[in-house]
Amino acid sequence: MAVTANQEKMEKIVALCKRRGFVFQSSEIYGGINGFWDYGPLGVTLRRTVEGLWWKYMVTDRDNIEGLDSTIICHPRVWHASGHVAQFSDLMVDCLECKKRFRDDQLQEKGVCPACGSKKMTEPREFNLMMKTYVGPVADEEHIAYLRAESCQPIFVDFDQVRMSSRQKLPFGIAQTGKAFRNEINPRFFTFRSREFVQMEMEFFCRDEESMTWYDYWHAERLKFYSEVLGIPVEKLKIHHHEKLAHYAKAALDIEFEFPFGWGEIEGIHHRGTWDMTRHAEYSGQNLQYFDQERNERYFPTVVETSCGLDRMILAVLCNAYDEDKAPTQKEGKEEDVRVVLRLAPILAPVQVAILPLSNKLNEKAEPLYSELRKSFRCDYDVTGNIGKRYRRQDEIGTPFCVTFDFDSVNDNAVTVRERDSMAQERVPLDQLKAYLAGKIIG
Ligand code: ATP
Repeated sequence: MAVTANQEKMEKIVALCKRRGFVFQSSEIYGGINGFWDYGPLGVTLRRTVEGLWWKYMVTDRDNIEGLDSTIICHPRVWHASGHVAQFSDLMVDCLECKKRFRDDQLQEKGVCPACGSKKMTEPREFNLMMKTYVGPVADEEHIAYLRAESCQPIFVDFDQVRMSSRQKLPFGIAQTGKAFRNEINPRFFTFRSREFVQMEMEFFCRDEESMTWYDYWHAERLKFYSEVLGIPVEKLKIHHHEKLAHYAKAALDIEFEFPFGWGEIEGIHHRGTWDMTRHAEYSGQNLQYFDQERNERYFPTVVETSCGLDRMILAVLCNAYDEDKAPTQKEGKEEDVRVVLRLAPILAPVQVAILPLSNKLNEKAEPLYSELRKSFRCDYDVTGNIGKRYRRQDEIGTPFCVTFDFDSVNDNAVTVRERDSMAQERVPLDQLKAYLAGKIIG
């Protein structure tokens, strides 16, 4: 089968992520483990930055959202109440020849194995996606516990605790970020479908009659986050309104991004009705109704949820940023060649400023500049290789500004600042450099 331009682009992104230490296969020296990914030095910086921006946008900058950090393992009843133990499953089929397993809804042709072409496939069977473990010394039914399959359930369980300690009244939300685990049948498309991933979720509790207004509000807010904070162009985003709704829901939509492998969900916005609160009240035997002082009445709050995966968000950011253009080269017989560049928004770039002294002899003067700048920006210091190669290394990881300290800098107290996308160079006096960079990076 011919490799399409999009497949090739995806392969290049995966290779770049490994080569430059953004993301790579977990446990690689043991042959890797399918559906699990490690984030290297640049990847973890990018991931923490994006998570931090989400937290600021959703929690820190708002008076009506509180934060939470719950455990990954909860009381197993939580997952009975939520319906995950009984229902969180996909239909799967097994190939009797090559023994590979597939999600039934992802088979291109029913009854034919996509791996070996065999027609000897099992009938579709339910496969629960919850990951199980045992808590305590005995590995029996009584001690089964589950790794959380979504980060939102503990929010419902802790609702009263958070509400009382924060003295919030409806409408208000609770947010948390953290690991979730799903035993996905077919992990694929790099980190897009993993078995261990990070979710960032916010549950907004309100009166039922106001819930659709809040649903529309959060829909608009979340789109604003992608375009204004992450710098993802709106034409690369699409809304998919669900036609089939859960019996308790009034509406649901997915925000999709155009990945090289096609459109894929990065976030869901769901009207969850009073389902979760009602179920936890029933299963725990606790009265979880909210007392509305204004109305002098008790009721279960209605919930509107925003739920996204950090790993899919990072993948969207990387796919959106990856580009190739032409740049000058010092290679023999060539004036220019292909340059790989990550056009990351400066606020996201793992390295925001690279300080590049032209020679080792300039270290004495350039190092203090590095120490000073790193107080304000994420910086890198690189003295190895010719300057052209050093620029390319920085372009490839998305560094928006390179500061070249040359022999003239010693006398004129100025440096050359090179901008990543335009490759334009500007001489900037040292005493104005910090303000110059802050203006461009923080805006
Ligand atoms: P899909 O239909 O792609 O399996 P979903 O509808 O089951 O996703 P939700 O349960 O709504 O997803 O989870 C909310 C978010 O969590 C998703 O929008 C996605 O960003 C992220 N997510 C879900 N499953 C995975 C996974 N296996 N790997 C990485 N991220 C995931």
